[in-house]
Amino acid sequence: MTTCSPYFDPAAETMSQDEIRDLQNRKLKELVAYIYEKNAIMRGLLDEAGVVPGDFRGIEDVPKLPIITKETFRTTYPLGLCCRPKEELREMHMSSGSTGTPVVMAYTQNDLRQWADCMARCYRMAGGYPSDVVQITPSFGLFNGGFGMYHGARLADLFVIPTGSGNTERQVKLARDFKTKIITAVVSYSIRIAEVMNRLGIELPDLKIGIFGAESLTRPMTKRISSELNIEAFNIYGMTETGGVGTLGCDCGDHSGIHVWEDQYYLEVVDPVTKEPLPDGELGELLVTSLTREAIPVLRYKTGDLTRIVSREKCACGRTHIKIDNIAGRTDDMLIIKGVNFFPAQVEQALLEIPGVHPHYQIVIEETGGVKDIRVNVEAEEGVTGYTVAKHLKERLGFSPKGDVFKPGTLPRQEGKAVRVVFKKND
Ligand code: ADP
Ligand code: ZN
Repeated sequence: MTTCSPYFDPAAETMSQDEIRDLQNRKLKELVAYIYEKNAIMRGLLDEAGVVPGDFRGIEDVPKLPIITKETFRTTYPLGLCCRPKEELREMHMSSGSTGTPVVMAYTQNDLRQWADCMARCYRMAGGYPSDVVQITPSFGLFNGGFGMYHGARLADLFVIPTGSGNTERQVKLARDFKTKIITAVVSYSIRIAEVMNRLGIELPDLKIGIFGAESLTRPMTKRISSELNIEAFNIYGMTETGGVGTLGCDCGDHSGIHVWEDQYYLEVVDPVTKEPLPDGELGELLVTSLTREAIPVLRYKTGDLTRIVSREKCACGRTHIKIDNIAGRTDDMLIIKGVNFFPAQVEQALLEIPGVHPHYQIVIEETGGVKDIRVNVEAEEGVTGYTVAKHLKERLGFSPKGDVFKPGTLPRQEGKAVRVVFKKND
């Protein structure tokens, strides 16, 4: 048996930052010329921004490019942003629609390969080697999660158990019977799996690695999931508009940030309002330019996700690609209650610091006569009182929500992304 490299694509994953910059400059120039030639809508946006492909110099000129938003996708539905003829398309996916009308991403054969390649790098980074057993629990369908993990697993020569979502009892039994080593899931579903394992009294000694994404993975949640499933948890990142799960990267064994594949994507972290670039280390909104996608490449895609650049240095794992922090929240997730701004992930972080509290909670925003109030309902073991919860949230977030403590297993569960915030309007 040949020994396997810790990198799926050693040359790409360990190229120097200078090489990455050269590559990005070259690809950015090609990309702008390509989009200008192939798509009339994008050509219009580039013209409006005064960008002339022949004069475009690469990274230094990126701030001159137009910013693509979810709205750009929605107003050009279904394939207005596509740069290739329909005959060349091989697959499509749609976002889960967390924030409104879903957006469509289409793939050529090369795009599917690019997606699989990014995802395969993530698997290897998390410790997935040929013939390892991977169980894919996100749904197979329009949501990009299941298929992205599948395409990547095939390229990485893993043995795939494509369960898709739901039927958690069967998931746990299959994981036991087929000795699943790697489980992939939407963050909140991993907790559901742990619950069912406990209820059935099934242990999964072969399960070593969890790859979780689609939702914020806070540090306390990572700790909970890792200890309940007895695995090492990895945070995988991507979105429909960049080509799906894993396209943007994953964290490595060092767990010091998410490596984003810079030979495939160019990143900016900007002030969400002014769009001015922020220095490394400062929290801002992530803009992503895809460098190698054919059907629907994006220019400065406004992700709505808040993060910071953690490091551009070579990592302990040997990879040279930039590291960003776990996503802190989405710009459109921010809640303002009685003058205090906060993100649902902060509530989660605070809740999970309380001993006996379970990672199932719901934030209910009630509006009465134009005044918003917040209630935080959470599952917890006996002995945890509403007073304890309210006191801790007050200390950590600066306000004291009302709320109820529920017995474990009683709050609603979802199969896809968890619905953490519910809005209610009282007359
Ligand atoms: P949407 O949820 O916007 O309908 P997608 O299904 O494409 O669209 O999901 C992409 C979004 O999911 C990202 O923009 C981000 O907000 C969230 N997401 C994906 N992976 C992660 C992650 N690892 N951590 C936090 N958020 C994530
Ligand atoms: Zn690393």
